[in-house]
Amino acid sequence: EERLVHVPLGERAYDILIGPGLIGRAGGEISTRIKCRKAAIITDDNVGAIYLDPLMDSLQTDGIEAVSLSLPPGEKTKSFDYLTKVCDVLLEARIERNDAVIALGGGVIGDLTGFAAGIVRRGVRFVQIPTSLLSQVDSSVGGKTGINTRHGKNLVGVFNQPDLVLADTDVLNTLSEREFRAGYAEVVKYGLIDKPDFFAWLERNWRDVFAGGPARIEAIATSCQAKADVVVADERENGRRALLNLGHTFGHALEAATEYDSSRLVHGEGVSIGIALAHRFSNRLNLLGVEDVARVEAHLKAVGLPTSMDEIPGELPSTEFLMEAIGQDKKVKGGKLTFILTRGIGQSFVADDVPASEVFAFLEEMR
Ligand code: NAD
Ligand code: ZN
Repeated sequence: EERLVHVPLGERAYDILIGPGLIGRAGGEISTRIKCRKAAIITDDNVGAIYLDPLMDSLQTDGIEAVSLSLPPGEKTKSFDYLTKVCDVLLEARIERNDAVIALGGGVIGDLTGFAAGIVRRGVRFVQIPTSLLSQVDSSVGGKTGINTRHGKNLVGVFNQPDLVLADTDVLNTLSEREFRAGYAEVVKYGLIDKPDFFAWLERNWRDVFAGGPARIEAIATSCQAKADVVVADERENGRRALLNLGHTFGHALEAATEYDSSRLVHGEGVSIGIALAHRFSNRLNLLGVEDVARVEAHLKAVGLPTSMDEIPGELPSTEFLMEAIGQDKKVKGGKLTFILTRGIGQSFVADDVPASEVFAFLEEMR
């Protein structure tokens, strides 16, 4: 029941393995595929406490000598300070070009570690072992890496494709229900971008995805394949890759509006509300029927995801603030915005001429 998704990026092509028990077999997979003898594992304290020992054991069994570094969990770890720390550890361990740096954790660890692996010695081998649903279906695929700065999220980084991704579906059993659900919003997103059959399949099979049955592996593999297809078509986001931002324009604004306070809103919850809003907004622009809006909202609600702004605890800032977060300064309200809109379930498209005044009026109405 293991699945393999190949990402055909020329010389930098790589495989994503998806299935149970992969951490226990990581040593074998890494030694046969990467042929390294030394590795450095970067993880966070939550994930490391459960999965570092089994991973170290597996590497040792296959003759890979490994060092490890565990960092505090949370978005704040994607910083210059921790980047410095990771680089220092890699250099102290004398990690060379052909050795491997392994990211064991969610998107925070993957983004930070991938960046370090891309710049230490101008690039060393990089293996992703994503442990959150979000990182398995999204951040570990596609090669975007980086850190946050005081100017904003993900503003410093490099494109650095991994050499191998091992998505162990068993590890999702220790992920909190809330984090699992948040990651699921990204799974739904792939259906709504351009896979109506996948969306319909999720409507029928989501319980098994959440329960950890065979549908979970299927859903993750389909999502990885969907992301890989987009990335291969448009590695550096000049066109089609923008579709992956479905639900993210509103979602990011809501994350900023809640000051990235994960007790109020985590990324996937913002995306869920953003997806619902993108569909409602498309309806308002006469692109999409109400029955499709209702169908999308019903599915998000069924799995327990939020679909409207009033579900966010605490006060939200003004619509002007939201517009600014969307990238539309008050002073240029006559401007046009780029948005991912939709004409139906799985019929999303990039609209680059959405009047900011329409967005403003819509948000005023929705809050
Ligand atoms: P995360 O890495 O913070 O993980 C979420 C929480 O779950 C953390 O507390 C972590 O310790 C815990 N956790 C992870 N796996 C676990 C497991 N198996 N068992 C128990 N606990 C576990 O967050 P995330 O949602 O995985 O990733 C979010 C980050 O990903 C953001 O920084 C975002 O910018 C980034 N991201 C990057 C890309 C990309 O293309 N590079 C795409 C989307 C998101
Ligand atoms: Zn996202």
